[in-house]
Amino acid sequence: MPIEIKDISHIYMEKTPYEKKALNNVSLIINDGDFVAIAGHTGSGKSTLMQHLNGLLNPNKGKVFIDGIDINKKKDKQTLNARRSVGVVFQYPEQQLFEESIFADIAFGPRNFGLSESEVEQRVKEAMDFVELDYEEYKDKSPFLLSGGQMRRVAIAGIIALKPKYLVLDEPTAGLDPRLKQNLLQKVKKLHQKEHVTIIMVSHNMDDIALLANKVAVMNQGKLMIYDEPRKVFAHRDIIEQAGLLEPEVMQLLRKIKEYGLDVEVSALNKQEALNNILVALRKRGIKC
Ligand code: ADP
Repeated sequence: MPIEIKDISHIYMEKTPYEKKALNNVSLIINDGDFVAIAGHTGSGKSTLMQHLNGLLNPNKGKVFIDGIDINKKKDKQTLNARRSVGVVFQYPEQQLFEESIFADIAFGPRNFGLSESEVEQRVKEAMDFVELDYEEYKDKSPFLLSGGQMRRVAIAGIIALKPKYLVLDEPTAGLDPRLKQNLLQKVKKLHQKEHVTIIMVSHNMDDIALLANKVAVMNQGKLMIYDEPRKVFAHRDIIEQAGLLEPEVMQLLRKIKEYGLDVEVSALNKQEALNNILVALRKRGIKC
């Protein structure tokens, strides 16, 4: 079982007046090759859940298994390797840049893994290529002289350079302009499809989720409300609304069209499906199209 989250709960500042139960009996299985989206409004427990995947937080109750290894049980090499197979890009990762040069920043992780200097260089080159930063032009520059979007790319490159089997992205596009956002999501999609990296991405954008994910987990008040294929999750409008989320825009549009009297199927994940649904409904009405 690749990643198994088994009935975990997490309480911040336990036994203080500020005690907060951020996760409440959450169970989740992520299979190899999955693209899992974690959705939910702010404060629903998404980041807390993500931080359990590489052992940054320990559950107060329950277990996290990576490739069959309980990552909170022992501190041996096997456990360390299991934790290391999960690369986590935190929210606003550019805030964690700290080295003098872009090269040094991206190289930090691979060096810690004990790779040779030529392997490190190769990893940095590949990672910079992935985020479309020219190696020769940028390697010696300070990351702090870059634009916000470029800094984000350096931070992501630092995780890509670790070649994680599982890549966790906590709202990777937050604060990016629309073009950069699309660009980054395309890259993540490529990583998933071409490199077969298992992706776990926090997002509350249902449009992105509909286009990318094969599984969606909806969190609400520390609880996992539903975990299923996007189409099945979107069919539960009540859960989506309770969780403070919106249906994908194409579904909102189809719902409006239905309200206007066209008996159209509302379930659709993208524009092409929405168009097909509309054509089917029109043809049922005898309109040739
Ligand atoms: P999300 O990622 O969905 O926005 P979080 O996992 O960050 O949610 O937070 C879940 C709950 O835990 C929230 O009520 C939040 O205020 C609380 N919380 C998060 N981090 C901490 C912390 N370090 N100390 C205390 N409470 C926290």
